[in-house]
Amino acid sequence: ATPTSIMVGTGRGAELGVLFRRGEALQLLRDANVVALDKTGTLTEGRPRLTDLELAEGFDRAQVLGLIAAVEAKSEHPIARAIVDAATAEGIALPAVSDFQSVTGFGVTAGVEGKRIEVGADRYMAELGLNVTGFTATAERLGDEGKSPLYAAIDGRLAAIVAVADPIKDTTPAAIKALHGLGLKVAMITGDNARTARAVAARLGIDEVVAEVLPDGKVDAVRRLKGQYGKLAFVGDGINDAPPLAEADVGLAIGTGTDVAIEAADVVLMSGNLLGVPNAIALSKATIGNIR
Ligand code: ADP
Ligand code: MG
Repeated sequence: ATPTSIMVGTGRGAELGVLFRRGEALQLLRDANVVALDKTGTLTEGRPRLTDLELAEGFDRAQVLGLIAAVEAKSEHPIARAIVDAATAEGIALPAVSDFQSVTGFGVTAGVEGKRIEVGADRYMAELGLNVTGFTATAERLGDEGKSPLYAAIDGRLAAIVAVADPIKDTTPAAIKALHGLGLKVAMITGDNARTARAVAARLGIDEVVAEVLPDGKVDAVRRLKGQYGKLAFVGDGINDAPPLAEADVGLAIGTGTDVAIEAADVVLMSGNLLGVPNAIALSKATIGNIR
């Protein structure tokens, strides 16, 4: 490609809301075989709502919701806001918490009203030695509905299963169709529950799912997909998306995402609009393809 074609392509990208931070990215995108996307905040809005709360025998809804919301009020995870908002909407006051701790990729814990509270994924409960099999059928149903199941423990006893659901962005289905139309494979990489991830992927026609990935496992997932498909573009928004954005042949960050992700990316989509991804690839094929 000539410097002029790259300049023209880059300018056209800006008109489409796609900012090329490196001219090279325009050339590299042309050869992409697969696009891997983060789920939360990239394919979905990143604003989950609490949809379900089922109690274990002997627990009270307002008490459990108050205790877990108090802990989540200290967390910055999108899940946390869903739980805090639900408690607030039910008029539940949040008690004070002590020694809050976030166990990355697993969940959160704190002391509340003299009790130890843990909220998180099934693997967190497993690590705490808690048996969640009483909730297995519920968890499977929630996952199949595309909801993310979480568990709450109070003083070492399993108290509830909670689910949050994150709406798919309006532009996501069209963006995936367009990527398929350009002949690319589409993959999802997420820390979320495998069943939930598969349900969301099936709804969107996504070809490949890598789920229950720990925060530092996204790079390995990118390497694996590269080995399988060849040239890979990764799309993400979060702090833990920075390493896979750097590892990908081309990294595309959501402009409304974290600064860390934007810094690590070669391309920035000015809005959250995922159509920027197929638009950028189509532009790359048109601009670079015509000139060689
Ligand atoms: P993702 O960005 O895909 O959610 P994370 O590594 O941030 O990946 O989280 C992985 C999983 O850990 C979540 O899907 C959830 O089950 C659990 N988790 C993380 N943070 C919290 C939290 N604040 N409250 C409850 N569960 C959490
Ligand atoms: Mg995300």
